[in-house]
Amino acid sequence: MKILCVTFNDSEVFDDSCLEIFSFIENFNKEAQITSLNFGGDKNQISKLPSDENFYVDSNLESVNPTQILDTLDNFLDNNDFDYILFQKDDLSNYVAPSISFRKNYPYLPDIKAVRVEENGNLKFIRPIHGEAAEGVYSISKSKSLVLKIRKSSFEKKALIEKSRDVKELLISEPNSKSFKIVETNKSKPEGIQLDEADIVVSGGRGLGGKEGFDGIRELAGILNGAVGASRAAVESEWIEPGNLVGLTGKWISPTLYMTFGISGASQHLAGCSNSKNIVSVNTDPDASIFNHSRFGVVADCNEFIKEIIEELKNSN
Ligand SMILES: Cc1cc2nc3c(=O)[nH]c(=O)nc-3n(C[C@H](O)[C@H](O)[C@H](O)COP(=O)(O)OP(=O)(O)OC[C@H]3O[C@@H](n4cnc5c(N)ncnc54)[C@H](O)[C@@H]3O)c2cc1C
Repeated sequence: MKILCVTFNDSEVFDDSCLEIFSFIENFNKEAQITSLNFGGDKNQISKLPSDENFYVDSNLESVNPTQILDTLDNFLDNNDFDYILFQKDDLSNYVAPSISFRKNYPYLPDIKAVRVEENGNLKFIRPIHGEAAEGVYSISKSKSLVLKIRKSSFEKKALIEKSRDVKELLISEPNSKSFKIVETNKSKPEGIQLDEADIVVSGGRGLGGKEGFDGIRELAGILNGAVGASRAAVESEWIEPGNLVGLTGKWISPTLYMTFGISGASQHLAGCSNSKNIVSVNTDPDASIFNHSRFGVVADCNEFIKEIIEELKNSN
């Protein structure tokens, strides 16, 4: 079996989601011949990927036109056949994976969170559907390559290997698309600890009742050395920046501790936080659906409760 892993990196260290792809492969084939095609990143790190063959395309991901990436990958696939083409979860993959599937007429499955090997050796891929309310189980009759995008934090991060391998360089395709070009990129990063890297995340929702409610959330997150998250209702009310959104359309997180204050637990919110190891929730409604997913639940006014925890934590230090 031949597998291509396509990675995008704008820093020297691999994003976890790149390395999780390799554990995903191990789940169904330990003997696969793995090729990595890396756009951006550090060549030294790329040489230590747990793959058999590595390619590097020098590209500044902040400014590159995504159609150049697509053309480069398209040309690469004209000369190389793969059973599977795998992508991590990030903004560029969101564009490139479905586009290459369309161009090449390969089937595409995004958001894979598990894989099952059937007794007859067939593979079944599992992904959440209907905004996380159900699981879709897919088997694909294999006549062509299959494009898969792997859900972040669903597989272990695979370690880099000790001994480096050769990295072959490929040139990025010249821009030839007149359909669009990137004029400017603005990335907003929430202040402080980043949501997807934090071990503790403290999130607020509509139940906070107003922008001031996030003062308590920020203070608690600061004391716990955690990051601040939010539901879409809070973001849409402009109580907090969109960069803090957790959920289907926001950040996908997997902290050890996820604390929610005044969040109901809509499926779209859970999509982004259900990989948390422990969820602790505060809500006035004992029937709030977030409690079904929480290890500990507190039926209380969230603003009152947050004050008490902060007080308690300050006194205990
Ligand atoms: C396509 C699509 C994508 C979406 N993507 C996302 C996403 O990425 N992330 C996301 O979060 N949402 C997303 N949503 C929106 C989602 O469906 C919910 O509307 C949203 O998550 C609700 O936010 P909330 O829990 O803060 O508000 P609500 O659902 O209104 O819940 C507020 C909760 O606060 C409780 N409460 C009220 N007062 C208090 C108090 N004083 N103390 C304690 N608790 C109190 C209430 O009992 C209630 O449970 C998406 C929706 C769609 C259609």
